[in-house]
Amino acid sequence: SMANLLGFEVNEFTFEEAIEFAKQNRGHVVTINPEMIDYATKHSDFAQIINQADLIIPDGIGVQIGLKILGYNVRRIAGIEFARKMLEEMKGLPVALVGAKPHVIQNAIMNLNQEIDGLNIVYNKDGYFADEEKVLQEVISSSPELVLVALGSPKQEEFIYKLKKELPNALMVGVGGSFDVWAGEVERAPKIYQNLGLEWLYRTIKEPKRFKRIFPTLPLFVLKVLLDGVKNVICKRN
Ligand code: UDP
Repeated sequence: SMANLLGFEVNEFTFEEAIEFAKQNRGHVVTINPEMIDYATKHSDFAQIINQADLIIPDGIGVQIGLKILGYNVRRIAGIEFARKMLEEMKGLPVALVGAKPHVIQNAIMNLNQEIDGLNIVYNKDGYFADEEKVLQEVISSSPELVLVALGSPKQEEFIYKLKKELPNALMVGVGGSFDVWAGEVERAPKIYQNLGLEWLYRTIKEPKRFKRIFPTLPLFVLKVLLDGVKNVICKRN
């Protein structure tokens, strides 16, 4: 079933259900967060891309709080964990990776190859290319069944959208900064922060320039969800 969050249909799957669904159905998986929803409300092209996704999973505590306000008890699914599990589930099948700095994607591939037996990466490209059309064609030519794109949002969702017609049976996920973590370039927050939903706080302390990205988006997002909830209650009464 689905939860409607400010006009976006977020799936209420558990982690395992999301993995199973993605494996069976393929298509574009969006791991949504408040910044993306905020951007989508201001850019209709991006909103359309999100709305045509085959699976929208709630990433980040902001989305979980928003859903909780609306009465949905949905656990967030970390995009990085979802993508990592997908690499394991689809090992042997052709995988394409696009994004991050050149040394980052190479180190990520080295580590992933060491960790996942039978991983079959058939194409990789760092995320700082000039000729997007060429990269799109190269990905398509490699006939991947799993495509992970780490270009940050909204670039990665736009990139996947352009691939979708040509690769209708592939599973494609925008993975943000995941390659940096897999490369050992960036550390994830300690488990205690993750479990408390405070990974964003840890990352903001470590990298204060992220502050601008989260504030005021996160509190404003929660406020918007609250107002939207109140509006719906009033509309239902009348
Ligand atoms: N990135 C890229 N090309 C670009 C801009 C960003 O490959 O033109 C990569 C960047 O190196 C990083 C990833 O995109 O590996 C996303 O970074 P960010 O921390 O913004 O992701 P998020 O916080 O959204 O997960």
